[in-house]
Amino acid sequence: MKTLLPTPLKYQKNKLSFEGHDLQKIMKNKKTPCYLYSKKTMTETYKAFYSEALKAKIPNPLVCFAVKANPNHEVLTLLKKSGAGADVVSVGELKAALKAGINPQKIVFSGVGKTRDEIIFALRSHPYGIYSFNVESIEELEMINDLSKKENKVARIAFRLNPRVNAKTHKHISTGNKTHKFGLLRSDIEEALLNDSLWTHSTLVGLSIHIGSQLTELKATEKAIKEMCDLAMSLKYPIEFLDVGGGLGIDYTEEDRKELASIKTYMKAVYQSLHRHYFKKVDPLLIPRIVFEPGRILVGKMGVLVSKVVRTKQSEDCHFTIIDAGMNDLMRPALYEAYHEVYPYEKSTKLISTDIVGPICESTDIFGAQRKLPRLKSDDLIVIDNAGAYGRSMANRYNERELAPEYFI
Ligand SMILES: *Cc1c(COP(=O)(O)O)cnc(C)c1O
Repeated sequence: MKTLLPTPLKYQKNKLSFEGHDLQKIMKNKKTPCYLYSKKTMTETYKAFYSEALKAKIPNPLVCFAVKANPNHEVLTLLKKSGAGADVVSVGELKAALKAGINPQKIVFSGVGKTRDEIIFALRSHPYGIYSFNVESIEELEMINDLSKKENKVARIAFRLNPRVNAKTHKHISTGNKTHKFGLLRSDIEEALLNDSLWTHSTLVGLSIHIGSQLTELKATEKAIKEMCDLAMSLKYPIEFLDVGGGLGIDYTEEDRKELASIKTYMKAVYQSLHRHYFKKVDPLLIPRIVFEPGRILVGKMGVLVSKVVRTKQSEDCHFTIIDAGMNDLMRPALYEAYHEVYPYEKSTKLISTDIVGPICESTDIFGAQRKLPRLKSDDLIVIDNAGAYGRSMANRYNERELAPEYFI
């Protein structure tokens, strides 16, 4: 199987293996559907991400893992051990990050709908609160400043800039333009900075952007960084950090493999943008630290969804392979028309064209249309690849199904 990034899946003597272990053996005492995760692939990917940032001369990088990609406790614990912080979008995620031992001073809180209770919890999580509230509206800043006053604290604030760019990705995961609910326009940020009453118990420590997910090319990212740098240059006081968000994609498809920027290329592009539009224009002592919010790139490749064939079915010229995993276990195909590679346990050269479908009573419950697979039978193992990010974290119990268990190898 072709892939740009490290993957735990391989065929060995035509049998599928995961991190070098025969899949059938791994699955002996496990139920399907289930998620299998590779610790090795995940920690190696994190290390690659961090070391490429250093190699690209990114100053003092802080990698805040976007918890929503995979909030599994062991995932968070392993990333914490490797030095990661967290990007959270709810108090539930904040609690999960704290439970894994992640220092509140390495946690940024994003999202347009932070509630009163969530803000109070974040303020109380550390004498100085969390590293940053990434604020998405003036109304939110007003509330944070108010609550911070009541808690007798000074909240650390970063404005999430809406840089008005069109990221090239699926329309449901693009977030950087005016019509999206995310971030603040530059003019609104400038107005807020002039309003002293918003800043009695909060202080501006950073700026952030996040323009979308599963980005393969970097033009929009570079443009967004430029917009953020221009705004930073115009501020009266130097800030502590610039947060370049997440969004770097993984290769799900052949097309992705042609377009996808590597971690190295991504880091170089980020550095060059920052350097050109900010670093070279300011006193070296005033260069801010750089925060990243990667989700998918850190965990997407390390996980697969393992399923079993329930039965097959033929309707005239339409062939269906019905498996025991459904769209409730992995929503991406139904939600974003996402493509996931599907592999049978035993490789064969005799292939048929078949639709791989789940048991859910929805026509969108389909993992792949007209895929070339061997003719499978009941209880054969089948694997849906690249399911470590936005897989189990989006799972739900539709049709009263149980949530799939997660196992580490
Ligand atoms: C979802 C999200 C991320 C992570 O996006 P990926 O595409 O998984 O890297 C980062 N920052 C914010 C604010 C997000 O909402």
